Amino acid sequence: MKLIKKISVLLLFLIPLLFLASLYLPFPKEKLNPAPLISLRLVDRNNILLREVLSDEGGRCRWAKLEEVSPYLLKAFVAAEDKHFFLHTGVNLFSILRAFLQNIKERRIVSGASTITQQLVRNIYFYRRNIFSKAYEAWLALRMERSLRKEEILIQYLNRIYYGNQAYGIEAASSLYFDKHSSDLSLAEAAFLTGLPRSPLQLNPYQNFPLANKRQREILKKMQSLEFIGKDKLERALEEKISIWPEKEKFRAPHFCDFILQEILIRQRRKLSLIQTTLDYSLQRKVETLVKNHISSLESKGISNAAAIVLDNTTGEILSMVGSKDFFDYFHGGQVNGALSLRQPGSTLKPFTYGLALEKGMTAATILEDTEIQFTTSQGVYRPKNYDRKFHGLIRMRSALACSYNIPAVSVLQTIGPDLLYLRLKKLGFESLKKSPSFYGVGLTLGNGEVTLLELTRAYAALARGGICLEEKSILGFVDMNGKQTIPPKSPKQRQIFSPQVAYILTHILADDDARIPSFGYNSPLNLPFPCAAKTGTSKDFRDNWTVGYTPRYTVGVWVGNFDGKPMHKVSGITGCGPLFRDILLLLEKKDLGKQFKTPDKLVRKRICPVTGKLSDSACPGHMEEIFIEGTEPHDICLLHKKSKILPEKEDYNYPKGKPLKIKISFPVDGDIFKIDPVLRKVYQTINFKAFVPDEKKIKKIEWWINNQKIGVSFFPFSFSWQLKSGFYTIKAIAREGKKKSESHPVKITVLS
Ligand SMILES: [Zn+2]
Repeated sequence: MKLIKKISVLLLFLIPLLFLASLYLPFPKEKLNPAPLISLRLVDRNNILLREVLSDEGGRCRWAKLEEVSPYLLKAFVAAEDKHFFLHTGVNLFSILRAFLQNIKERRIVSGASTITQQLVRNIYFYRRNIFSKAYEAWLALRMERSLRKEEILIQYLNRIYYGNQAYGIEAASSLYFDKHSSDLSLAEAAFLTGLPRSPLQLNPYQNFPLANKRQREILKKMQSLEFIGKDKLERALEEKISIWPEKEKFRAPHFCDFILQEILIRQRRKLSLIQTTLDYSLQRKVETLVKNHISSLESKGISNAAAIVLDNTTGEILSMVGSKDFFDYFHGGQVNGALSLRQPGSTLKPFTYGLALEKGMTAATILEDTEIQFTTSQGVYRPKNYDRKFHGLIRMRSALACSYNIPAVSVLQTIGPDLLYLRLKKLGFESLKKSPSFYGVGLTLGNGEVTLLELTRAYAALARGGICLEEKSILGFVDMNGKQTIPPKSPKQRQIFSPQVAYILTHILADDDARIPSFGYNSPLNLPFPCAAKTGTSKDFRDNWTVGYTPRYTVGVWVGNFDGKPMHKVSGITGCGPLFRDILLLLEKKDLGKQFKTPDKLVRKRICPVTGKLSDSACPGHMEEIFIEGTEPHDICLLHKKSKILPEKEDYNYPKGKPLKIKISFPVDGDIFKIDPVLRKVYQTINFKAFVPDEKKIKKIEWWINNQKIGVSFFPFSFSWQLKSGFYTIKAIAREGKKKSESHPVKITVLS
């Protein structure tokens, strides 16, 4: 008995002693580590927040240091949650005792008022609540108070608690609700945020702002009653209007951010805390406004949407990407990104066709034929029509491209071979052209394949760069979870797709306001007060409308149309997106008017006859300066106007209906010069002779003669593929009808090796 008594007495002393000693056990340090960053922030090139992406694991959380938070916050929290915080040792014995007695009396768990320290312990340790949990919590709270200073406890608390809407920690909350750092909060804002953790659901400012506001006012008054703030400060804070950052604003540049996130694997995304993008948000906002205003003004024409892209030519960086008129317009499919959608590009691929023609030795002065013509394709016979449903006879390549006539573009492509254009477009990054080249055929130059606005803009930027294609760039750098900064590993690939000379001539034509007058008139929106090369396009049945173009510094692509594919009311590229394109460029270039395109070497300028494209003579109806790649410039003087009676009148080429006509070679044209490409495979080194036959029903077959030798025959549609060999040739087409023989005018060509 004596022994038991002794042990009991010993225990009676020992237990409190052990308890007291246990309070000096240091609080586990690792439990106090900042919570991991579990959200990813996308910012623009000037660090403006565009989007915060929550991970699957939780919400936004960023750690704020004690010296970084507004001192009002500390005071507000103490006033709201635990006014004796600076006095107690971690627990409020009186309230614990009261809660314990209540628990016993009511046989259920009632929580007493907890100190900030206890709340923090609860936030760090997760345990099931029972009648002993309060004691356990108190023990941990007491230990925490031994290990940390009061301010350290407070900052841990501020950084860990939940403020609603997936925001954990004060920094996340200030950025979510006020778009600012916690150090910049006003007294009124600090008190507002302090109120939320008590009941994040009921006090959700987006749903129940008045209630959250009421709680803020209570806290402010309590701060004053505790003499944390003076009366004047209270009054000013009560008068301050709290404006919550709107939910919509959290989706800045929405299509662009989605585009970035799609580029990065989820696995990689989890390791990142920040992505700095190439976007210029201040420009983006202006472009968004322009898109919105233009589409509103075009609604009567059956247009509901538009997309726009701005690229920096030097770096290939995407400065702006607008995917639709309004991301939040669900009725018109606002979430579809029009900049990445597949659509028919209309005439916007024509410059690349002519680029290949320039490589083949044709020039901007080469005379092309714009007459009724037919092609056999895999889908049957094809008769391209011009936009204005007219034929324009013989025209120079410059006019054919600037006025965007269809027939010359198709003829030229037929001559160079559609496969070649297809391969070149692939090199320029048109990944969307997935079918075989034979599927598209010559229609490729008129836009029968589907491409994206981004691909088009990228390809035009290559022309702006003197033929160099650069993969576009959308990310400037990353910051990982440990704060380590990296820049994207791969520098974009550079490839010379067209020679600087070819790119320059195309640019010169696309920037030629005079050359496009016949099609677009004098006051076209493409005429800008600074050098700007541009091309419009309209897809079949007026479904899509494009304008793509560039200055030396920027490339801009604009698409206008409807996401549901509804046709517009006869809106052309020039009336649809031309004005929007113009406004975006005026916005971009206003600071630096008049920057010129760089002229490469190996170009020569000649005065030519505008009708024949040959060197002009005093008898010519006019003359103009044309640019040629060295070696392709004309050497012959125009004879048409000297001996106008020998050569047929221009009318003859137009074939007006009803006039009996004889068979004629429509391609090549008399005087054409072809050049054999030393690199290209032999199969591509062919040209297609074409004949115009006035009466297809009577004449089924024609013969082709070169230098008085028959080389073959062809049937409808009377084209004949001929392998290029260097030399001088005279070509004739002959049709026989019984004993009757019809012979074409001879066509003389030169093939250079
Ligand atoms: Zn002339």
